[in-house]
Amino acid sequence: MKITIVYDNETTKPDLKSDWGFSCFIENKKNILFDTGANDDILLSNMEVLGIEPKNIDIVFLSHNHWDHVGGLDSLLSMNPKIKVYKPDFSLKPKEFLPGFMTTGILSGIEQSLMIKTGKGLVVIGGCSHPGLENILDVARKFGEIHAVIGGFHGFDKFDALKDINLVIPCHCTQYKKEICELYPENCSSCGAGKIVEI
Ligand SMILES: [Zn+2]
Ligand SMILES: [Zn+2]
Repeated sequence: MKITIVYDNETTKPDLKSDWGFSCFIENKKNILFDTGANDDILLSNMEVLGIEPKNIDIVFLSHNHWDHVGGLDSLLSMNPKIKVYKPDFSLKPKEFLPGFMTTGILSGIEQSLMIKTGKGLVVIGGCSHPGLENILDVARKFGEIHAVIGGFHGFDKFDALKDINLVIPCHCTQYKKEICELYPENCSSCGAGKIVEI
């Protein structure tokens, strides 16, 4: 499985744009775009540089309805009306919506996170983690061991919750990126548009 960060507050290459927001592209049995950033021009420009074509997206998974995560959706749908959108509906419970792909369901009435089963364990991807990353990880652990967690962690500071996770990539709105990577130097990796993670 390949995960490419498409939209982030930081960037890894000068030809990619950084902006407040988040999106990443997951290539597995299906191609899933997780969130769509804030601005459609920036999303599409970064996708083009990264060789990701709208026609190759099967599913858009939206973590929550904040502007910095849903901004590119309408443009993507106009370019590829076949994209299936998994929206954060209020009644959503944890479930496997495709073989190997699960949602945590809506936590704290605001946000769902994506869980992907891999041979190494679960990969958890979050948008802003408004329900508290520690609470999201608690839900995910009911489905298996967590191998990796990627996304915006917001004000998360219960750092102990990360201690058994092999790969931690704090992105987007994470307030304590520096502290997390100092605490887990071997497992933590920096984020940014253009970053590629192979699992
Ligand atoms: Zn948010
Ligand atoms: Zn956000």
